[in-house]
Order: sequence, then structure tokens, then C-alpha cells
Amino acid sequence: MDEFLRWLVLVFWSIVGGLVIVWGVAGYYHVRYYVLRRHEPETWKCQPKRWLRPEQQRQAMRLTTMNMTVGGLLSGTFIWGIGRGLPTGLYFDFAERGWAWFLFSSVAFFLLVDLLAYYAHRAMHHKLVFRQVHSWHHRYVATTPFVVTAMHPVEFLTFQAVTFVPMFFLPIYYLTAIAVFVYILVFNIIDHSGVKLSSRWPWQGPTTFHDDHHAHFHCNFGQCLLLWDRLHGTLRRKNRRYGADVYGGRGSGGSSDDDFVSYK
Ligand SMILES: [Zn+2]
Ligand SMILES: [Zn+2]
Repeated sequence: MDEFLRWLVLVFWSIVGGLVIVWGVAGYYHVRYYVLRRHEPETWKCQPKRWLRPEQQRQAMRLTTMNMTVGGLLSGTFIWGIGRGLPTGLYFDFAERGWAWFLFSSVAFFLLVDLLAYYAHRAMHHKLVFRQVHSWHHRYVATTPFVVTAMHPVEFLTFQAVTFVPMFFLPIYYLTAIAVFVYILVFNIIDHSGVKLSSRWPWQGPTTFHDDHHAHFHCNFGQCLLLWDRLHGTLRRKNRRYGADVYGGRGSGGSSDDDFVSYK
């Protein structure tokens, strides 16, 4: 019974933690822009003429809350498992590996998770998977902060899996793992805000990068970094046609040396 109670407490706090971040950050952007500056969308909105219908917004809130609850359940169970001896690469004593490894592994972990998220997202854009699964998330062409995890549960679990897998192979300080997860979640909310914002971190693209993904569908698959799209040629290019029916990540028309759209 003691063990069950321990699991229950961990699951409870994981769910509460995730929901507080999502509702706190999303709520902040919602009130700041969609309530207080609703009358002047051309001054802040990525797509000033497009809005979610009220029932779409409610649906996004429900789906995001449901997925985050499932996510908290799994994260809480994972933490409980670590306490029960689940073998992972996480370490808890900083002195065990020192600063050099801490810095190297933190950067490597972030890059690896972001790369895996790129490939997982790109796979979601395979025609069959897109129609069956990922189209749930793409129903929202003009996104709002609550669209962040408004997606098919299969998609949510896929992203949670690719985020968790590197922890089993790479020795990472546990606070790094927590910081990276919080960072990814917060920036995913901001990237779905629908508000024109650029980041103060040089590696993090502006919100228009993922907003264009929703507006043009099959390009800009990256999560935080634009690097993977640049390397794979799937960053949106000028003079190309994109849309729900143009699969492959490179648009149609144009020529092979079309410039990438510059996101700043
Ligand atoms: Zn997508
Ligand atoms: Zn999205």
C-alpha cells in the first residue's frame, strides 16, 4: 500500500506540474493578446485574418489537458520506476561526473531530443500517418497557445517517447533532464501562441517558424532549432507552393536554388 501511495503522489504532482505550466503560460499569452489586444490583431498576430472558432478553441483546451494528464501519469510512473531501480542514464550526484561532462551532456541531450523530434514529426507527415493521426493537430491552421498538445494521443505518446529515450542511453544530470523538458514545453506553447515573437536565445527560432508549418503544412518540421530543416532542405523556401496536398517537405514549383525564408 505504501508503494501504491508513493506512486499516486508522484503521478499526482507530475500531472499538476504539467497542467500548471501549460495553463499558466498559455493563459498568460491568451489574456495578454487574445483578450486585451483582440481589437488590433494586425499589430501582433501571425495570421491576423484567421481565428479559431470558439468550439475549436474549447476542443484544443480539452485535448491539450487530456494529453498532458496522460503525460503526467507516464512521467510520474517513470519517476516512481527510477526510485524502484529502473535502469536509466540519469545521475543525481553532480560531483560524480563534474562540470565538463555536465556541459557536454546537457548540450548533447538537447540536440538529440530536438533531432529525434524532427524525425518523428517528419514521419508524421507521411501521407498515411498524416491523414490518420497528425491531421488532428493540423486542424488548427491559425494556432493559439492551447493548441500546444492538442493532438491525437498516438502522436503525443510518440513525442513523449522520443523525448524520454535518450535518457536511457546518455548519462545526464537529472536537473538537466527536467530543465530541457520544461524548456521544450514552454517554447512549444509560445511557438503555438499565434503571436509574432522572436526569442532572445540565438538558437531558438521565432514563432513564425512553426506558425508557417501550420499555415503551409508540409515544411518546417523542427521543434526548437531550424538547423535540421536547413540540413534536410525542408525549411520553407520562397517561390514554392505549399499546402495540405503538397507532401514531401520541399513544396512544388520553383527551382532548386530557391532561397530559404529567413526566420528572425
Ligand atoms: Zn506537422
Ligand atoms: Zn504544431
